[in-house]
Amino acid sequence: MNVLVVNCGSSSIKAAVLDDASGVVQARLRVERLGSDDAVWRIGDGENVSCDPTHESALAAALPALISGCDEIEAVGHRVVHGGTKFTTPTRITDEVAAEIEALSELAPLHNPANAAGIRAARKLLPDILHIAVFDTAFHATLPRRAWTYGIDNELATKHGVRRYGFHGTSHQYVANRAAEFMGTDLRDLRIITCHLGNGCSVCAVEYGRSVETSMGMTPLEGLVMGTRSGDIDVGAVLHMARAEEWTLDDIDNFLNRSSGLSGLSGVGNDLRDIEARAADGDEGCRLAIQVFAHRVRKYIGAYTAAMGGVDAIVFTAGIGENSALMRHRVASRLDFLGARFCEDTNSDAKVSADSPVFEISERGARCRLLVVATDEQHAIARTAGRIAHEDDRVRNPRTIPVAVSARHMHVTRETLDLLYGEGHELTPDRPLSQPGQYAAAERVKIIGPRNEIDRVRILGPIRSKNQIEISRTDEFALGVDAPVRASGDVTNSPGVIVEGPAGRVELKEGLICAWRHIHMTPDDAEHFGVRDRDVVEVAVTGTGRDLIFGDVLVRVSPKYKLEMHIDTDEGNAAELSRGAEGALVETEGVARLQSRKVRYD
Ligand code: ADP
Repeated sequence: MNVLVVNCGSSSIKAAVLDDASGVVQARLRVERLGSDDAVWRIGDGENVSCDPTHESALAAALPALISGCDEIEAVGHRVVHGGTKFTTPTRITDEVAAEIEALSELAPLHNPANAAGIRAARKLLPDILHIAVFDTAFHATLPRRAWTYGIDNELATKHGVRRYGFHGTSHQYVANRAAEFMGTDLRDLRIITCHLGNGCSVCAVEYGRSVETSMGMTPLEGLVMGTRSGDIDVGAVLHMARAEEWTLDDIDNFLNRSSGLSGLSGVGNDLRDIEARAADGDEGCRLAIQVFAHRVRKYIGAYTAAMGGVDAIVFTAGIGENSALMRHRVASRLDFLGARFCEDTNSDAKVSADSPVFEISERGARCRLLVVATDEQHAIARTAGRIAHEDDRVRNPRTIPVAVSARHMHVTRETLDLLYGEGHELTPDRPLSQPGQYAAAERVKIIGPRNEIDRVRILGPIRSKNQIEISRTDEFALGVDAPVRASGDVTNSPGVIVEGPAGRVELKEGLICAWRHIHMTPDDAEHFGVRDRDVVEVAVTGTGRDLIFGDVLVRVSPKYKLEMHIDTDEGNAAELSRGAEGALVETEGVARLQSRKVRYD
C-alpha cells in the first residue's frame, strides 16, 4: 500500500511517499527554515523552491509536487510527538482527534503545534483518505506507575500533567522488533535495551515487548546527554545558575535545550563527527564531551538491566548508534558482567542499511547480544498507517475464505510414477483443482501400511520433486503409522510407506504426513488480512452443520494461489461441513508469527 508519511518539526518538514510493507520510497520532500523569510522546499535532490514560512502554506505548495507522479496514495501517517495520556495507540484522525492533538500543545509546545499544522494542511489536500496519527509517546504507555512518577507533590503533578511520558517510541519499538527478528526469538521472550543515539538521545528498557523504562521524561530533555540538550541535571544547579546569571524562563529553556549537551561540553557544535575528529587531535573539551556522553549511556544500561532483572540484547541505533564505532566501543566494551562480550573487530566493521538493517557486534555465543540496528521511523509510521488502513478495508469490505475438504491424496515424482504406472507414463488430468495449475489425476494407487491398506488413493498432478502422501488422522490409525502434522512439502524425517500401482510397488523412505490445516492466499489477500506467509492464525468457519473455530491454521502466500482454506476429511466431518462453507480470520492482531519456526514446503 502506498502511504504518505508527514513529519513536521518546528522549523522543518520531512515527508515521503513509500510502500508500507517494503519501505521503498517513491518520492521525498524536505522543507527547511520555516518561520523565517528564506523558507524553502525541494523534492528529492531537486532545486530549492521558496515558499511562505508557515507549515500550512509550505505544505499546500509542496505536497501536490510530492505526490504527483506517485502511485495513488491510500493512507497518510502523521508523526505526532506528544500523545499525552489520551493517545496510547495509533489513532485515525477525525476533527475531534485533530483538536485534541492541538490541545496537547501545552505539554509539547515545541512539537505538537507543528504536528497539528501538518495534519490540518494534509487533511485539506487529501480529504478523502484515511489520516492516522502515530505518537512518539505511545509505545511508553506501558511504563509502570513507579517509572513514570516524579518524586514531587502528587496533586500538583496531576493538576499539570507532570509525569514521565518518554519519546522516540516509534524508533525503540521498531528496532526492538528488528532485533528480535534477527535473533529468531519472539519479542515477547526477550529483554532488550534500545539506545537511540541521534541528535535527540534516549534509552528504553523493552521487557518482553513492552516499554517499562525510558530515559526521556515529561519532555525530551531528561536522560542522556544529547546534541544540544543537557539530559539529567540537578534542578538545584539550574536554579543556582538562573539566580547567578539572572536568567528568565526562556533563558533557562534555551540553555538546557539548545546550548548544552555535546554542543555545550565540546564548544564546537553538536556533530559528533567533528567532536571525534577534534578529540583525536587532543581537544580537551571534545574528549570530555565523548566521555560524559558514553558514561551516561553505560549508566542507563546498567540501571535498565537492574530494572528488568537481566538483559538479552542491547541495541544501538540512530545517527550516533549506527555510525560511531568509537562511541559504541566506549559504551559497550567491558559489559561482560552482563553476559555481553563486545567484539572489537565486528564493531569497527559494523555497517547497517535499509537492505541489511542489523549487525551483531558481540562475540559468538554471548548470552547478551550487542546489535547495531538501522532505525527507520518513517517506515515504521508507514507500516502502522498501512495496518490501520488495511483494518479499515477489512471492516468495510470483508473477504471470506472458502473452505474445502482435502481428501487423502498423493503427489508423485517422475521416478515414482514410472515405477507405479510404467516407464514414461503421463498423468491423466481428470478434473482441475481450485489451486491454479493443479488437477486430480485419474490414476489411483494403494497405500499399504503395517496394519492395513487404503485403496484407490488419488494422485494429484502435476508431478513434483518429492513424493508426498497426505492422509487424515483416521487413515493414519487405519494404516498403523504415526504421521506428523506438516506443511505440504515438508516431508523430511516423515515415515515411509509402501505404495502399489498397476505396474509395481514402491517402498517410500519418507513422505507420509497429515497436512497441517492451511489457507492458500495471494499476496493481495495477505495484505488484506494483515498476515504474512507462515503466520499461524485462527479461522471461524460458518455455514456448516456446526460453527467452529479452527486454531493452528497455517498461512501460505503465493501469487500462484487462490484464496481457500484446506482441512482434512476428519476435520470436515467434525464440522459437518457442507458446500459453500466459509471462514473468517478471528484475530489478526494476535497472529502468532512463526517466521523463525522452520516450515518448508514447495
Ligand atoms: P536526529 O535525531 O536529528 O534524527 P540522527 O539520528 O540523524 O539525528 O543523528 C545525528 C547525529 O549522528 C549527528 O549529530 C552526528 O553527530 C551523528 N553521526 C552521524 N554519522 C556519524 C558518524 N559517522 N560518526 C559519528 N557520529 C555520526
